Amino acid sequence: MKYFVNDSCIGCGLCAMDCPEVFEMTDAGLAIASEGEVSDEVLDAAVQAQSGCPVDAIENVD
Ligand code: SF4
Repeated sequence: MKYFVNDSCIGCGLCAMDCPEVFEMTDAGLAIASEGEVSDEVLDAAVQAQSGCPVDAIENVD
């Protein structure tokens, strides 16, 4: 599973707190997702981060 943060991101920072292994905040104050495949160890946290995004900005990428 891979993730992508779309233009809806409002920079609340929740995803980076829930799953810092995958999501980080840029200098512009918006989230980006790491490009690689998410490992099984952090998948639960990534799923939680995705579901917790208040504006549904986190998409799955196959
Ligand atoms: S939780 Fe959603 S809105 Fe908040 S920083 Fe992450 S992607 Fe952006």
